[in-house]
Amino acid sequence: MQGSDSLEGSNWAGNVVFGAIRRVAPCSVEGLQEIVAACDRARPVGTRHSFSPIADTAGTLISTARLPAVLRIDAGAREVTVSAGTRYGYLAGELHARGWALPNLGSLPHISVAGGCATATHGSGDRNGNLATSVVALDLVTANGELVTVRRDVDGDFAGHVVALGALGVVVTVTLAIVPTFHVRQHVYRGLTRVTLLERLDEIFAAAYSVSVFTCWRPESSRLWVKQRVEPTGETTAAPVENFGVRALEQPDHPVPGADPVHTTGQLGVPGPWHERLPHFRMGFTPSSGDELQSEYFVSRDDARAAIERIFHIGDQIRPALQVSELRTIAADDLWLSPAYGRDAVSLHFTWRPDEAAVARAVAAVERQLAPFQPRPHWGKVFALPAASIRATYPRLGDFLALADRRDPTGVFRNTFLASTVGLR
Ligand SMILES: Cc1cc2nc3c(=O)[nH]c(=O)nc-3n(C[C@H](O)[C@H](O)[C@H](O)COP(=O)(O)OP(=O)(O)OC[C@H]3O[C@@H](n4cnc5c(N)ncnc54)[C@H](O)[C@@H]3O)c2cc1C
Repeated sequence: MQGSDSLEGSNWAGNVVFGAIRRVAPCSVEGLQEIVAACDRARPVGTRHSFSPIADTAGTLISTARLPAVLRIDAGAREVTVSAGTRYGYLAGELHARGWALPNLGSLPHISVAGGCATATHGSGDRNGNLATSVVALDLVTANGELVTVRRDVDGDFAGHVVALGALGVVVTVTLAIVPTFHVRQHVYRGLTRVTLLERLDEIFAAAYSVSVFTCWRPESSRLWVKQRVEPTGETTAAPVENFGVRALEQPDHPVPGADPVHTTGQLGVPGPWHERLPHFRMGFTPSSGDELQSEYFVSRDDARAAIERIFHIGDQIRPALQVSELRTIAADDLWLSPAYGRDAVSLHFTWRPDEAAVARAVAAVERQLAPFQPRPHWGKVFALPAASIRATYPRLGDFLALADRRDPTGVFRNTFLASTVGLR
């Protein structure tokens, strides 16, 4: 299976019911071109895992899941070209079987490549960019039905095309940079105190290839998920983390307290292929709690300590709506609408209970605390930040709006979400 069941009428979480009058999944690129050229209003959709109404439209919802499957590796160039609707989990297995890897993955492998890149989906790691930073080329069908190719090394405005929120056209194939395959060991530790987290934040995130802190904002009991790269010699690239005062768990864990670890990737330090350790959740199993809403905000590394401290102060206030929070690091990049554009970032993530009223109150409280740090919200998650404050944090937003006008002069791919967040009307 490489495609996705994208003809459903709502998103994965069920909080967004699509307003589309028509849902289509063309079986050829030519068919897609004809559909797009005939649409007044349309949106591309991936595997529907976004919590925001980013993919919604009053017109035609277009899935690429049924386009002919493409998976072409160019070993010399170290690139793979895949059809847009390919799920990361499928791609990862195929790459590993041929000796290749992607540098990182999000917490779940269930999402489509085009959908993940369009919202700058990320994992963790001081030196790991978000998933969109691996993109070296895109083929997309623009509003007039034309198939165009953009490449990083050729097109000056390439960096505007990748994290594009579905606003520039329907991507049909994505070319990604690949690296030789590698193995990873995953350990989970408990007992990280608020004081140690704040005092040794940089050391903690530098301790391994990918580090996540899971917390419910209590002073004594955060957990560390540590993913160490295993070198071909069998050595691991990591500093020991016991000196942070934490204890390794001897049973598998789940990020959401009380949830069944059967859904999570291998732990207890057993080495495994990169794609079976870098995501927290296993393909074919339910990711996260399965019954939730999510929010996430990115602040500069320089502001991370102060931002985290402020959320600890409102822990009691937001905990009734919270299942768990996660802190991760993302390397700076040059993609115009990436939340890590121009600054190394720390993300503060919130897995909420599926109670929209309680979540709205908690989101407002979190946004008040983060306001001094120019937070950038995750495009695919729940937020309420006003458009002006979002726009002020993206120095290349004006260039993106001009690019969208050029690619889509009549606004076929615009929707209410784009108008209310980036001002694309
Ligand atoms: C349980 C869970 C865990 C998650 N964990 C993480 C995480 O670890 N890190 C993280 O950053 N995010 C995470 N997310 C959020 C998720 O990765 C993003 O919302 C991602 O965009 C979802 O991909 P999708 O294929 O479902 O895209 P959709 O939600 O279907 O679409 C997202 C956007 O992509 C556009 N798009 C889709 N296909 C195309 C195409 N062919 N051409 C052009 N544009 C297209 C859509 O128009 C829309 O704007 C998580 C979500 C869930 C439900």
